[in-house]
Amino acid sequence: MPNAQISPISSVAIIGAGVVGVASACTLNQKGYEVTVFDPYFPGEGGSSKANAGHIGASDIFPLSTPGIQWKALKMLLDSDAPLKVPLKDFWPQIPWFWRFLQTSHGSRFQKATDAISFLGKNSLKDTKALLESYGLGGMVDYGGCAFIYDTKKSFNSSKKSWNERTKRGFSSESLNEESIAKITPTINNTFKHAFLSHEWGKVTEPVDIVKNLSNEAQKGGVVFYKNHVERISESLKSVLIEAENGSFQYDAVIIAAGIDSISFAKSLGDFLPMTAERGYNLTLPSPNIQIEIPIVFADRGIVATSLRSGLRIGGWAEYANPMRPANQAYFDSIARISQELFPGLDVEGANYWMASRPSMPDSLPVISRSQKSDRVFYNCGHGHYGLTHAATSAKLVCDLLTNNQNLSVSSLFSINRFL
Ligand SMILES: Cc1cc2nc3c(=O)[nH]c(=O)nc-3n(C[C@H](O)[C@H](O)[C@H](O)COP(=O)(O)OP(=O)(O)OC[C@H]3O[C@@H](n4cnc5c(N)ncnc54)[C@H](O)[C@@H]3O)c2cc1C
Repeated sequence: MPNAQISPISSVAIIGAGVVGVASACTLNQKGYEVTVFDPYFPGEGGSSKANAGHIGASDIFPLSTPGIQWKALKMLLDSDAPLKVPLKDFWPQIPWFWRFLQTSHGSRFQKATDAISFLGKNSLKDTKALLESYGLGGMVDYGGCAFIYDTKKSFNSSKKSWNERTKRGFSSESLNEESIAKITPTINNTFKHAFLSHEWGKVTEPVDIVKNLSNEAQKGGVVFYKNHVERISESLKSVLIEAENGSFQYDAVIIAAGIDSISFAKSLGDFLPMTAERGYNLTLPSPNIQIEIPIVFADRGIVATSLRSGLRIGGWAEYANPMRPANQAYFDSIARISQELFPGLDVEGANYWMASRPSMPDSLPVISRSQKSDRVFYNCGHGHYGLTHAATSAKLVCDLLTNNQNLSVSSLFSINRFL
């Protein structure tokens, strides 16, 4: 067991230059640490941070595993247009993960997960703003809210309980009628009549631009980026050895922020990290021929539409599958067809297809934690659906762990030992 009483840390390696690794690099650099980031790709290009939906979804405070999820999931698995997919060949190896996932859906585990996500959500808008503004990048986020649109009055009504719970926790919203929906998007199919506008929600100009701009600023502050794949890490009494494809390097500590690939590092260190790949699919349409003012979540479809620098990004879905398998083209085709039903007149010509693995934990909470096995190894990974949203806050929390300034009741929420 690590004792956390190690000599002071001044040099830190970060494995992974996705949004979580880069936000951590910026925060540590601003605190005076010597930081080196390893990634075989340019910042933001290698994983799920590249072309996600770009939402800062602060008010989405519930774990994915909600009461009754088992019945909802079964129904979705039987509907080819539903956003949940589990290929049979990938189901069996994930049974332990699904079991832990189901355990989150009720009782104190559900409450605990909701409290922890609310904590992240409460801080995420202000922390994201502060991080970006510290580099003059504040204009890269628009905090105009998000419309959650429901297919039917019945589903709108049954969602009210969750909106009331958000309100109780300080996340405000208002219901929208048909007219207000048309103002947000005049081109939407006019069968949609029920929606909520969530106020605590932002949208970035383009997800990959956020990572690139932050990494450029971090480099100006002295952070080193090595375009290098890390093969192995090992700990000695006074340092951590990073063995990368182009050489070996020593640091006082390492943060594993390698998205879905964090699993293999945890395995080699002997830490238990029950993470799975929840693959998401989307299309970016350069000339969509429709207009939307603020991000839209089609709550009953698992589809999100966002206007970004590169065009209209539309998609979502969750496929629990081996991250190494190629993307399933049939899913892109279904999303394109469904999107044209949602927005008659939508032009999908020239669409860019993208699939990536969300690094997902069974309780929808990231792991921001010291390793159970090594004093000098830290994790900042497992952000699932909301890595962009929670990156700035997670960066602060991992920095607190490194300096031994953590608030114990907060750090225990995200500890790697919560599944033991
Ligand atoms: C379709 C979709 C839509 C989404 N929409 C949103 C959204 O709107 N808002 C939101 O907040 N989140 C969203 N997400 C989730 C979000 O994208 C992820 O939670 C987030 O990108 C995770 O960031 P990360 O830095 O942990 O991982 P990644 O971005 O995956 O980065 C990990 C990095 O580690 C590197 N790496 C891996 N192995 C090694 C190694 N051995 N050596 C060196 N480097 C290595 C990889 O190359 C990669 O660059 C979405 C995800 C998907 C798939």
